[in-house]
Amino acid sequence: MKSFAMRVQNVAPYLFAGIEKRVADAKAAGADIISLGIGDPDLPTPQLIIDELCAQAKVTANHQYPSSLGMHCFRQAVADYYARRFGVTELDASTEVCALIGSKEGIANMNYCWVDAGDINLIPDPGYPVYAGGTEMAGGSCYRMPLLAENGFLPDLDAIPPEVAARAKLLWLNYPNNPTGAVCDLDFLERAVAFARRNDILLCHDSAYAEITYDGYVAPSILQIPGAKEIAVEFGSCSKPFNMTGWRIGYAVGNAVAIQALARLKSNLDSGVFQAVQYAAIKGLQQPERIIADNCARYAARRNILVDGLRRMGWRLEYPKATFYVWAPVPKGFNSASFAEFLFDRTQVVITPGNGYGRYGEGYFRAALTTEESRLAEAVARMEQALGQVEF
Ligand SMILES: *Cc1c(COP(=O)(O)O)cnc(C)c1O
Repeated sequence: MKSFAMRVQNVAPYLFAGIEKRVADAKAAGADIISLGIGDPDLPTPQLIIDELCAQAKVTANHQYPSSLGMHCFRQAVADYYARRFGVTELDASTEVCALIGSKEGIANMNYCWVDAGDINLIPDPGYPVYAGGTEMAGGSCYRMPLLAENGFLPDLDAIPPEVAARAKLLWLNYPNNPTGAVCDLDFLERAVAFARRNDILLCHDSAYAEITYDGYVAPSILQIPGAKEIAVEFGSCSKPFNMTGWRIGYAVGNAVAIQALARLKSNLDSGVFQAVQYAAIKGLQQPERIIADNCARYAARRNILVDGLRRMGWRLEYPKATFYVWAPVPKGFNSASFAEFLFDRTQVVITPGNGYGRYGEGYFRAALTTEESRLAEAVARMEQALGQVEF
């Protein structure tokens, strides 16, 4: 057998693949593991969504190939949600909305749509690994924009060298942000749109956490910025707001040229999302308020347990306003990897080392709040016992 393609050889195994293996091994050996690793909602998918899936699964028409672009009624439900939630009223469901097999699929494939060998994308560091992985598998290279605490984990767009900006194809942004939990305001998005327009770059905004927010913060959409649709697309997901990670459904909205390019690529690669899943997701998109309010109340309570605990141990941390992650520096004497190792060995608590999200994530760790309150409290108790008071 000859060797497999360089694009696969050169890309690192997905961040969580290694972590999941270690956790599985330790569990098999009988360890009482508390995983604050991968961010995967533990709460169930709401009943009205499950009921719709069950009903639609019985409809013969749904047993056939769906369109890879998505059913028109799903795309219209996304457009209607944008109108109600963001006041973005002019989205055309026919040309400016595309269903995705989870937004991860669309994010990876958008890179394939735009990037040729030698092209550059601007990606946040630390960042969701799919921006870099997708760019590199498509043959491009990444210019990493550091997300630094002193800038509120926003990239400094003015620090990007003009010759890099001039060549760049895509600008990836993600607010509310994974892994840092940072949020942005409309003013930042406005500057990002102006930057993209000035440099003729497609701005790709990943808004997977737009509905996971606390303390009155409301996340904006990039499409609220006047003229954004000329240069931007936004990726949304049903995974996080509706506890549907296993169902695989999301969407891309915005610039029609970018959406049509994605649809053309997808029509050659996949055959879309099971229609029953699309019908079920419509139920969530039509009445998201109650589901989201319940979820966010749970995550906020968990956030308080973890952040309060870390503060008692000596961390100087703010309470994140969004996402279900806590991003925190590792104590003095550790780096990201050694701290993750120490916690795992001494407390059986799994966190994600920050350097897994890029070199500017070194010195941090990420803890996910997708574990029930009593287990989080137990994780905090174990950490207090193992660490005592920490210094930085
Ligand atoms: C979870 C997540 C996604 C993808 O979610 P899907 O389940 O593929 O829709 C995209 N971006 C970020 C930043 C995420 O954390």
